[in-house]
Amino acid sequence: MKNIILLILLCIGCKTNTKKNIETAFEIGIIADCQYCNCDASNTRFYTGSLAKLKTAVDTLNTKELAYTIHLGDFIDRDYESFDSVLPIWNRLTSKKQQVLGNHDFSVADSLKKLVPGKMGLKSRYYSFLKNNWRFIVLDGNDLSFYGAISDKKRQQTDSLFNELKDKKIPNLQTWNGGISLAQLNWVKEELEIAVVQNEKVGFYCHFPAVKEGEVHNLWNYKQLLQLIDNYEQVKFYFNGHNHHGAYEEKNGVHHLTFKGMVDTEKSTAFSTATITKDSIFITGYGREKSRRLKIK
Ligand SMILES: [Zn+2]
Repeated sequence: MKNIILLILLCIGCKTNTKKNIETAFEIGIIADCQYCNCDASNTRFYTGSLAKLKTAVDTLNTKELAYTIHLGDFIDRDYESFDSVLPIWNRLTSKKQQVLGNHDFSVADSLKKLVPGKMGLKSRYYSFLKNNWRFIVLDGNDLSFYGAISDKKRQQTDSLFNELKDKKIPNLQTWNGGISLAQLNWVKEELEIAVVQNEKVGFYCHFPAVKEGEVHNLWNYKQLLQLIDNYEQVKFYFNGHNHHGAYEEKNGVHHLTFKGMVDTEKSTAFSTATITKDSIFITGYGREKSRRLKIK
C-alpha cells in the first residue's frame, strides 16, 4: 500500500515537473541570408564578407545556451562549392542546427540541385520539430519554383500555379520567388491539427514572407497559406528572410517578422537571438537587427 501511495505521489510530482518544464523559457539563434559566394560585391551585397560575419555570429551564439540556431534560407548566393566555405563555420555551432531552404541555395548546376537539401543537413525539404510546448514548422517556399522544383511533377505544378496567378498581375509573381504545393499545405494542416490536440504553440519558419499586401518578396500563394493559418490560434509567429531590408507586421495575433540579411553592407552584420517565454518573444538584435519584444497573444 505504502508503495502504491509513493508511486502516486511520484507521478503527481512528475506531472507538475513536466508542466513546469514546458513553460520554461528557452533561447534560440536566428540568422538570415548569409548568402555567401566567392564573388565581387554587387550593390549592397558583400558576398565574401559573409564568411567573417558568420564566424563572428557563431562565436557570439556559442557563448549562449541555445535550444537551436536556425538559418532562414539563402545560405549561399550561388555555386555548389560555396557550401564548402560556409558549412565548416556553421558546423562549429554548439547548439542544434536547423536550416530553411532559400531560392539562392538552388543557384547551383542543374545536376547538383537534388543534392542541396542533403548538403545543408536536411532529411526533408519541409519538416517540423518540437521544443517544450512549441511546434516549429519549417516550410519549403521553393517547393514550386523555377529553380528549386526538381521533379517533373513539381515542375508541372509550378507552371500551373504560375499561369493561374499570371492573370491576377500580382507583384510577388517573380521568378525568384516560389510557392507551396498542395501536398505541403495539406501537411501543414495536419501539423496544425496535431498542435491543437497536443495544446502546442506554433511558430513558422520560411525563407519567403507571407503577409504584406503588395510585397514583391511574398510567396506566390501566400494568401492560401494565410487562409489556413488564420484558422488556428496556436500560430504565434512567422519568421522569414529573403527581403534583406527586414519588415514587421502583425496579423490576427501572428507576428510576421522578416529578419535582415547578413550579406548586406560591407561592415555591419545582422543576426539575432530570441528568448521565448510563456507570454513573449524577446528578440535581441545584433548589428542592423533591431531588438524588440513580441507579445504572445
Ligand atoms: Zn532569397
